[in-house]
Amino acid sequence: MIIDCHGHYTTAPRQHEGWRTQQIEAHTAGKPPPPRPTMTDDEIRETIVGGQLKVQRERGTDLTIFSPRAAGMGHHLGDATTSEAWASACNELIHRVCSLFPKNFIGVGMLPQSARVSPQNCIAEIGRCVNEYGFVGVNLNPDPSGGHWQDPPLSDHYWYPVYEKMVEYDIPAMIHVSASCNPAFHTTGSHYLSGDTTGFNQLMTSSVFKDFPTIKFIIPHGGGAVPYHWGRFRGLAQDAKLGLLSDIVLKNIFFDTCVYHLPGQELLAKVIPVDNIIFASEMIGAVRGVDPETGHHYDDTKRYIDQLPLSAADKAKIFEGNARRVYGRLSGVIEKQFAQAG
Ligand SMILES: [Zn+2]
Repeated sequence: MIIDCHGHYTTAPRQHEGWRTQQIEAHTAGKPPPPRPTMTDDEIRETIVGGQLKVQRERGTDLTIFSPRAAGMGHHLGDATTSEAWASACNELIHRVCSLFPKNFIGVGMLPQSARVSPQNCIAEIGRCVNEYGFVGVNLNPDPSGGHWQDPPLSDHYWYPVYEKMVEYDIPAMIHVSASCNPAFHTTGSHYLSGDTTGFNQLMTSSVFKDFPTIKFIIPHGGGAVPYHWGRFRGLAQDAKLGLLSDIVLKNIFFDTCVYHLPGQELLAKVIPVDNIIFASEMIGAVRGVDPETGHHYDDTKRYIDQLPLSAADKAKIFEGNARRVYGRLSGVIEKQFAQAG
């Protein structure tokens, strides 16, 4: 089975994001939000059949670990109340997709975060995602202020309520920022990659893995700048007397393969142990074009893995085994959803 651990519902029915705009407008005007829009199963089916499912089939992947649109999380907009209602709406929609296509999608939840609001606020939604929806992970935004970095670093006890739940439920978090509201950062270019790199650095220098030895994080987008600068991080860890970087982070941190060219993928596989790499494409996402050098979509990352000089057993780890290990609930949920599908 080929499991893509990083996909977002970027093709949701238009009324879903339309409601979000109305919700934020109402909040700004000091009014209550309008009622949530209706979306039929057929409308949802249509967005998937012609979208992510079509791409899965074309590329020969089987299952996508699927979460709400990342840039759409918008934790910098509104307040704790609007974030809660929006996260709830987005996660419910992901659950509907997974129920309609149980063999192709398994859910990951977004969290009702807000800048400078305690992540304690996320606990109820994490419980709902795991217990009611059968989700296998969460996306954790290290910068709910959208490019202004106003919250404490991930090393801070501020985040520990979320970490406690991750360990309790055996779910990993993907460190994933949302849209940038700071014009200095392009959302999917610099903001995403700096969020990945920053999150890694915050965790690497923290006590989080001492306090939560079994916790697991996925750094998306190939780890941002981390694998390319592995020597720098090794040296920083050494200078700070933290020990060997591989000893500090590799039980707890994993990198996805959302790197959109072969040389980048080769570097990732050369620097990071195979056990710490999880296949992902983030389709249909930030980069949708065709690479004129190859004639294939940039985000068709399976092609790059296929070309790596690795054994079949190592490729199987990247495509399936590591995802099943890092997402502790995944194998159980696969079994359950496949049984439902018949
Ligand atoms: Zn993403």
